[in-house]
Amino acid sequence: MNWITNYVRPRINSLFSRREVPENLWTKCPECGTMLFHRELSDNLNVCTNCDHHLAITPRDRFAALFDGGAFVEVKVPDPVADPLQFRDQKKYPDRMRAAQKSTGEKEAMLVAEGEIGRTPIVAAAQDFGFMAGSMGMYVGNAIIAAAERATKLKRPLVLFSAAGGARMQEGILSLMQMPRTTVAVEMLREAGLPYIVVLTHPTTGGVTASYAMLGDIQIAEPNALICFAGPRVIEQTIREKLPEGFQRAEYLLEHGMLDRVTHRTKLRDELVSILRMMGRMPAPTKADLPAPTPTAPAIEATPDPAAPEPAPAKAPKSS
Ligand SMILES: [Zn+2]
Repeated sequence: MNWITNYVRPRINSLFSRREVPENLWTKCPECGTMLFHRELSDNLNVCTNCDHHLAITPRDRFAALFDGGAFVEVKVPDPVADPLQFRDQKKYPDRMRAAQKSTGEKEAMLVAEGEIGRTPIVAAAQDFGFMAGSMGMYVGNAIIAAAERATKLKRPLVLFSAAGGARMQEGILSLMQMPRTTVAVEMLREAGLPYIVVLTHPTTGGVTASYAMLGDIQIAEPNALICFAGPRVIEQTIREKLPEGFQRAEYLLEHGMLDRVTHRTKLRDELVSILRMMGRMPAPTKADLPAPTPTAPAIEATPDPAAPEPAPAKAPKSS
């Protein structure tokens, strides 16, 4: 033993661990500043337990919480041409893509899956704001078409969770062409008589708002989500006027007839099940499973053994 093992190494370890622990285990709520423990936060679907602020949630985490037993099957999305314009700003487009893939662990900005929610079969698509701001490029267009085709084939409703900064500028006009493409995909569902439900999450803006995100049969939004085409700052600078409080937020849009519902994330699943079953003319959702059969009490004919302890009374069925 010497001063290196006793003194230097612990100092070095503490320096590194000190830096890592808060980042991994704690998240600061951007609204109220409360430090939230990661497990507590993910148990509450990334909603602040103190002020109810809805933080971003990845499509994979959302699907895990949405589908029965967290079980879903991914729907394959055809790959588009990579970097069609050889686009370059401060970084090359393929480099940006690789960085986004590394940080999110996802291939692209949209995840499509099929499964059951509340025993109601659906196809779902969710946009990942963490992946290049959820921007709509050719892949997202392909994903929505794949989702709509799958839903039509299986005769299932489509539920879409939007989150985007708009179209992907690195794909130029090709990203803007996804607006009519996705509109046609939604039209395909309409012709097949299948419900299309959109859940708008914070933020949904630009070309996404101008196409598939506003074409739902039912439009639901998460509380306080920013939903707009051009953002409030741009509008303020253009018209040189102060905008009203809460402008372009979910509650404001609900009040002005742009939305059908504003629903808390923790209540969203139940609400989706009810709506989907109503639209599909299915019986009302089962709220709870029947309790598992308890070991049967000894038959009446059997002579009770006086030495044996009395059987425990059967537990009342748990309701939730
Ligand atoms: Zn908070």
